Amino acid sequence: MPNTGETAQHRSAGESRWAEAPADARLGESPPAGDDAQQAWRAILTALRTTVQREQFETWFRRSALVRCDDEELVIAVQNSFSRDWMRSYYQAPIEGAARSVLGGPRRVTIEVDPERVLAAAAAEEADTGRAAEGDAVEEAGATRAADAPAGPRRLGTLGADRLVQGSDIGLNPKYTFDNFVVGPCNRFAHAAAMGTAESPGKAYNPLFLHGNVGLGKTHLLQSTCHAMLGTWEDFQILFLSCETFVNHFIGALENGDIQKFRNKYRNVDVLVVDDIHLLANKERTQEEFFHTFNTLYNAGKQIILSSDSPPKDIPTLQERLVSRFKWGLVTEMVAPCYETRMAILKRKSRERGQELPDDVARLLAERIDTNIRELEGATTKLLGYASLSGEPVTPQLAREALDDIFTVRRGEPTMEEILTVVTAHYGVKVTDLQSRKRTNAVAYPRQIAMYLARSITRHSLEEIGGYFGGRDHSTVLYAIDKIKRLCAEDEQCREQVGALLDDLRAPSR
Ligand code: ADP
Ligand code: MG
Repeated sequence: MPNTGETAQHRSAGESRWAEAPADARLGESPPAGDDAQQAWRAILTALRTTVQREQFETWFRRSALVRCDDEELVIAVQNSFSRDWMRSYYQAPIEGAARSVLGGPRRVTIEVDPERVLAAAAAEEADTGRAAEGDAVEEAGATRAADAPAGPRRLGTLGADRLVQGSDIGLNPKYTFDNFVVGPCNRFAHAAAMGTAESPGKAYNPLFLHGNVGLGKTHLLQSTCHAMLGTWEDFQILFLSCETFVNHFIGALENGDIQKFRNKYRNVDVLVVDDIHLLANKERTQEEFFHTFNTLYNAGKQIILSSDSPPKDIPTLQERLVSRFKWGLVTEMVAPCYETRMAILKRKSRERGQELPDDVARLLAERIDTNIRELEGATTKLLGYASLSGEPVTPQLAREALDDIFTVRRGEPTMEEILTVVTAHYGVKVTDLQSRKRTNAVAYPRQIAMYLARSITRHSLEEIGGYFGGRDHSTVLYAIDKIKRLCAEDEQCREQVGALLDDLRAPSR
């Protein structure tokens, strides 16, 4: 983990592999404006690189932009209030120091929130294809980049390319970028780690292991990391795939007898990304193969990135040696977003869809939908679609109408979380058990009961219900519902249990 804790870590200038601020970047007495101000800002950034640890720099400074720089003040824009507070706490003094040395005198440093400006600056930088982001000042000073560039693959000048990943069977979603990812306390470590990984593949955190419940942004972060790496490193081979695909390819290779071809494909990449690695549970042979793939890549200094719905030790039947390897690098959890983050996500998602939600509507949704970002996004899409079809303005009243399912559930119908709470308490199992691949009767039966209850008393679709139980597909949910229906018809005890659970869920105290 980079230093995401209390104090910012600083490198000594001697340690830095980045160029120092060039001599002619000291702009002297006259206050810079326009292009000059931009040039001064780039020189300040270059100077900061020598004192701020690289992962930290990438996390906080790459997504900042200059607002104004005059005789008295240096104003910097960042993407959100979280970044602003963080920068103020940890980087105010280093920025002041860098500004003083580059501009030849002190400046008051102000950091403000202005996501548009940051995005515009990033777009301008992207358009400026001839330059690598951190190398501008160096190049302007006449230095050659080669001497300053990090060892390993060559950097590209653009960020966020959305090319398809070579050799992968899944295309990257162009929307799943770091720029579109809202950072909050729930995901800041995962986000910083992913950015650090993209910046130093194979070096910073290997493997990077992200875990958390469904709909919290794991796939988004994995793909953001791939976009950033593809945009940064030339000739980079990234294999991005779901665990299911890995399993299917492996089985196919075994059947066709071309296991060597399979190994060549998987073991000759710079980065292997496997989404939902928990699906390796109960797959002995594939785990064995993955173990060797992991070792080969790891020993060659190649980056491995994994996501899972639970931490390594909770993945059922995962071999101990894989559990320990998954913990070699960085294991970080993504949790449900807090209220402020939910608000920020709602604002961002609605803006992406061409119309920002008014505050009162965003507040209403953020209060109602509190566990799953995919649901927040779904509600935004539905509400804006409804508003545009009906030609009415987006108001709390319209939101209640358009999203009656969400509001009805809260008015009396139990939520998924309440169902999970009641079922886990009744049967003495854990939520992670219900979401795991475990198929013993002690777990499978309560899971089927929970699915049945969910279908009977919430408005969730089969797919959504499956999502709550470790991403099971709709046919599994359907099977569970049919089975419990049949049992209730045949078996008095089952009928009573289901009745008692329903009473519990509908009790007025909820
Ligand atoms: P997971 O893989 O954890 O199930 P996803 O990455 O598929 O979750 O995220 C679900 C949806 O929520 C995606 O559309 C994603 O873009 C969105 N999302 C999740 N986290 C964030 C975030 N922090 N900022 C913006 N969008 C997010
Ligand atoms: Mg996912």
